[in-house]
Amino acid sequence: MLPKNRRLHSALLAVAMVAAAGPSLAEPVTAIHDLAKQQQQPLLDTLRDLVAIESGSKDLEGLAKIADLIADRLKQLGGKVELIQPTDIYRMDDTPEKVGAMVKAEFQGTGKAKIMLIAHMDTVYLRGMLKDQPFRIDGDKAYGLAIADDKQGIATILHAIAMLQKLGFKDYGTLTVLINGDEEISSPGARGTITQLASDQDAVLSFESGGTDGSLRLATSGIGAAYLTVQGKASHAGARPEGGVNALYELSHQLLQLKDLSQNERGLKLNWTVSQAGTNRNVIPAEATAQADARALKISDFDQLQATLQERIKNKLLPEAKVQLKFEVRRPPLEATDASRKLSSHAKAIYDEIGVPMKVLDVATGGGTDAAFAGVKAKGAVIEGFGLRASERIRMMPSTFRSGALSRVFIWPRG
Ligand SMILES: [Zn+2]
Repeated sequence: MLPKNRRLHSALLAVAMVAAAGPSLAEPVTAIHDLAKQQQQPLLDTLRDLVAIESGSKDLEGLAKIADLIADRLKQLGGKVELIQPTDIYRMDDTPEKVGAMVKAEFQGTGKAKIMLIAHMDTVYLRGMLKDQPFRIDGDKAYGLAIADDKQGIATILHAIAMLQKLGFKDYGTLTVLINGDEEISSPGARGTITQLASDQDAVLSFESGGTDGSLRLATSGIGAAYLTVQGKASHAGARPEGGVNALYELSHQLLQLKDLSQNERGLKLNWTVSQAGTNRNVIPAEATAQADARALKISDFDQLQATLQERIKNKLLPEAKVQLKFEVRRPPLEATDASRKLSSHAKAIYDEIGVPMKVLDVATGGGTDAAFAGVKAKGAVIEGFGLRASERIRMMPSTFRSGALSRVFIWPRG
């Protein structure tokens, strides 16, 4: 029989996992389960408060406001809290001048294991949408902009720690929380800090939503972007076309010779998705650009792809055209490791104990998250998907197409 309320399970699992990372599982699961029940309403209240602050990745004011709220909550829980303003920013095509600060909290325990919990506070919807779509609870569902991605992750972390405190559980060396404000723009500021802090942890648990079925993920896709720029020469298309160098023709030639680089059997994908050329119908276009989305399961595949792209663009249709290609690793892939397999099978055992099936996915399905930055130098386990379950699939879509209309909804079945 399913337990009464599934919303408990993420916090419950997080607590149990932290407990398990110490020398022994200190408390019986039922005691933790009861505590989780007591946290239901407080967790909903926290969600309401988080959703009530608009915090787009480029909204520095909103990000500062939500960072303060999270910092206060972590202080109340007894953490040593600091706001870290990123200084070493990895600049990509869409990186703003300034990005939001990270909230870091550290809790000292009496044990040995080092455990880190991560989530992000930035969102993708456009500023101003909140007034028409406020947080609400309707029956067994909670609705709110960015509730699934990733405000639930923050709330789950806060209440998992509250539960640990109520249990009096301190059998960890350090419990580190890191909440960043730039995940949705590929973490240009937080990536370095996440990698560095994660490197000597025994376990990093990431609180993106557990999808519709609460799966844990041991691998995530690497995400890359290729930008192709062709420089030609403008000329009047009617009076003197031979005086120009048609950048659109060269771009078309390039795209056709760069379109077969996917290797689906190894999860390597390259797809050209955006292009632009020309200004007027009667002018030979002087510039043309295109962008491609790239995915990989291994970082070496990105290196290889980049080298192939650079080599191929040397073959030109119009010798006078100038062709340039820039490649960005927006997010490295996360690969499953022995450590993550071992810890996730323990998680599965905990779910078994409370009668809930759990899937552990060790092959990436196309999405990328900050768990990948944690995995770059990690010696311990890195696991994604500790957040609550969503009632619809979380889709990876270009941020311009993701909108509040896709309010994330959570199913919390009754009885
Ligand atoms: Zn997210």
